[in-house]
Amino acid sequence: MFGKKFQRKYALSDKGVQSAKKGMAWTVVVNLFAMCGMGILYFLMQRFMNTLTDNASLPSVWLFLALVVAFIALSLITHYQQYRCTYGLVYEEVKTMRVGLAERLRKLPLGYFGKRDLADLTETLMGDVNRMEHVWSHVLGYLYGSYISTAIIAVMLLIYDWRMALACLWGVPVAFLLLFGSRKLAKKASETSKKAAITVSDGIQETLENIREIKATNQEQRYLDGLNKKIDAHEKTLLKGEFVAGIFVNAASVIMRLGVATTILTGATLILSGKIDFMLLFMFLLVITRIYAPFDQSLALIAEVFMSEISVNRLLEIYDTPTATGTEEFEPNGHDITFENVEFAYDNEQVLKGVSFTANEGEVTALVGPSGSGKSTCARLAARLWDATDGTIRVGGVDISTVEPETLLSDYSMVFQDVVLFDDTVMENIRLGKHGATDEEVKAAAAAANCDEFISKLPRGYDTPIGENGAKLSGGERQRISIARALLKNAPIVLLDEATASLDVENETKVQGALSRLLQNKTVLVIAHRMRTVEAADKIVVLADGRVAEEGKPEELKANKDSIFHLMTELQAVSANWNI
Ligand code: ADP
Repeated sequence: MFGKKFQRKYALSDKGVQSAKKGMAWTVVVNLFAMCGMGILYFLMQRFMNTLTDNASLPSVWLFLALVVAFIALSLITHYQQYRCTYGLVYEEVKTMRVGLAERLRKLPLGYFGKRDLADLTETLMGDVNRMEHVWSHVLGYLYGSYISTAIIAVMLLIYDWRMALACLWGVPVAFLLLFGSRKLAKKASETSKKAAITVSDGIQETLENIREIKATNQEQRYLDGLNKKIDAHEKTLLKGEFVAGIFVNAASVIMRLGVATTILTGATLILSGKIDFMLLFMFLLVITRIYAPFDQSLALIAEVFMSEISVNRLLEIYDTPTATGTEEFEPNGHDITFENVEFAYDNEQVLKGVSFTANEGEVTALVGPSGSGKSTCARLAARLWDATDGTIRVGGVDISTVEPETLLSDYSMVFQDVVLFDDTVMENIRLGKHGATDEEVKAAAAAANCDEFISKLPRGYDTPIGENGAKLSGGERQRISIARALLKNAPIVLLDEATASLDVENETKVQGALSRLLQNKTVLVIAHRMRTVEAADKIVVLADGRVAEEGKPEELKANKDSIFHLMTELQAVSANWNI
């Protein structure tokens, strides 16, 4: 019952399953012990009745006191143990879960983070784990423990007097059937509300990221109205979810309580027909006050269990995504990059359908093709940000899918369009290229990347903080910082995604100068957007429809009047907007 399926259902670690079992065991003890309290009361009541009917002596006050004190003491101990096992151990489990997730995320292919919405991922790490913490602490021990203890008590009652037991307990299964019936509705409401929550955080993130543009174009009110709408929609879904859960939980609770009425009715009938005595009815009335208590708690929690399914699925999705593994030894023979019949699909969309080409060491290979033809995908696969679904990619003859990603990436510099700069000084932002580089090395790289002239104009030179994601720098300056980083790293392979946004002439010349220093003697794979880069490349690979349509030196391809490349260059000549 509490095997692998249970473990997955609640996303528990092995230790977590053990803790959950302990929590359940102590809940059973607590619940059964509470029944013992009823037993003491029953015993005293019976002695008292005997005194009234048979003139027997009253039970001693001392016996009564001793029983009460012993009961309170044992009750405290069992409750403490239950608390320790349900809450104390859960905190341990939450820690294991967070550390485990972080470890897992570290090992996932980098491309995974491009696929998953970041707001969604944050929600999983924070929200879903919190939700599970609540479920683990409140539900597992109490809920399952209550089921077990009630089953034990029900069997005892049935043996004692089955007619009264049925009258007392019939409501429990009916209430639970009703709740399980409502499960689909609750789950749907919860899914809708989760989607709405993600829309809200996406909206907030988008507004913050684009605050400059929003202000510049006077769109504040429009954006705020949009956000308000999203927040209202989220609130509505939450209210609806609570309403659905509330109706069913309350209905179930009422049905269960009807058991009190049927117990009294059945008891009275049986007493009248002389089948039981008053004391038995009294005992059942005592039991009934206790037996529903854990179930009331369960009813309140069961909606949470249903809703937690979504959180569990999201957590398991991270755990079930295969990690990128490999050896830490990487000794390639040179740094030629070879694609051999590489196929790749994002989800179901086949993007590369058998791509083969070689980017030679010491040369610039330009990937060219219409937007969406898979140029960026090729660059990502070349760095093992994703793994190819079929075919092989080799660097210096070594199949990169056998190399541990971090080891592999130490041979790569990436200069991509979306340069990520951190809210730190210029110096530290460049130093990211090479861990432990001296200030002199950083400055030399900055100079080679044509950065020093704009850095010297900053208020505190290299020690100037550059604001989150380089907000204080222009596009060309940010790009040069990222080139400086790559120069500092001096990796043998450079993946370059040229900026699509046009820079001013001065910046453009400086970026080109910096690049020409970076690219010397490297294996360069460039996603080219400018004619100038394309014509200066050593080799052109034209991608179309997921395959290599043409390959060769720029002048050769251009000379062939029927080639796609020729057509593209012609078109570029007539339309400055054409983006290859
Ligand atoms: P290019 O760089 O030539 O413009 P891409 O390699 O970026 O082309 O994209 C190729 C195709 O793959 C496009 O249809 C694009 O929509 C799709 N694609 C790109 N990145 C992703 C992603 N992270 N998830 C799903 N589809 C993607």
